[in-house]
Amino acid sequence: MSYEASMLAKWHMPSRERVADVLLQVLLEHHGVIKEFNSDSEVVDKIAAKCGVSDAQRNVYLETIYRKENRLKRTSLWHRLIFRAATELANRGWVTRPTQTARISGNREWMLTENGFDAALKASSISLGRKDELAVRSYEVQKIVKELVSVTAPIDYDPVDRTKKKTRVTQETILRFRGFRQAVIEAYDFRCSLCMLRIPSPDALRWEVQAAHIVPNYFQGRDDVCNGVALCHLHHWAFDVGWFTITCDYKLRVSAAWRKNSRASEETIERLGLRKRVELEMPTRRHLLPHPNALQWHHKNVFHP
Ligand SMILES: [Zn+2]
Repeated sequence: MSYEASMLAKWHMPSRERVADVLLQVLLEHHGVIKEFNSDSEVVDKIAAKCGVSDAQRNVYLETIYRKENRLKRTSLWHRLIFRAATELANRGWVTRPTQTARISGNREWMLTENGFDAALKASSISLGRKDELAVRSYEVQKIVKELVSVTAPIDYDPVDRTKKKTRVTQETILRFRGFRQAVIEAYDFRCSLCMLRIPSPDALRWEVQAAHIVPNYFQGRDDVCNGVALCHLHHWAFDVGWFTITCDYKLRVSAAWRKNSRASEETIERLGLRKRVELEMPTRRHLLPHPNALQWHHKNVFHP
């Protein structure tokens, strides 16, 4: 038995599989990413608490002699164990190593892959069907987000993608859609751009806010950030049915259709919260703003003046 293995046994440390399982759950709680363990004590504490690792166990060090310099090197046994568990997950292709993640996120982080995301949902007893609602950054989705937020649309941008398949759902289109959703809600800091609502679910895994297409998917609207706007459920609906639109200088324009609609009244507008605001809250990065061509398409095809 190696020195490390004998120390793990002597101190009754949890198994590597158990730590890996807990690591997956913690990754999910942290939206798919955690920093390197030596730079994030909060996460290390959390994993220890979930694994039932005591302070005494956390204060055990492996002591090795640096032959070259003939000096003693001390490594925390607990840190070594979670590092080994994370490496095990990386070997399975369930997380990316900090060096690999840094190439797309710029930060040295362990990040869930799509397969790891599935495994994390299983480890947390969450149905796979909820995958699309969760604000989790998987490596594959983050790659798409990076691509989406780095492009600037041309002046003659066409928000309609005439080649977009309406019915065929492939793994690629699912990932692309999740990338769109993630990029849009991040650009708006998880807020509705109209009412500024920013609420998480009780388990903190989901945000109330949605990424609305300006030219909708069924009209072959592109999954680009500049064809999107973050809206709460109510305002997403109101935007999709044309109760309001957004002008090219990002002001709110409200429908007067209630005058003609026997089922609606001025109170409808009041209830929709469309009386209070004039300007919408938009991303600060200019190239992420809705494109005028997409907004004009909405004025013309969806909005009821
Ligand atoms: Zn809202």
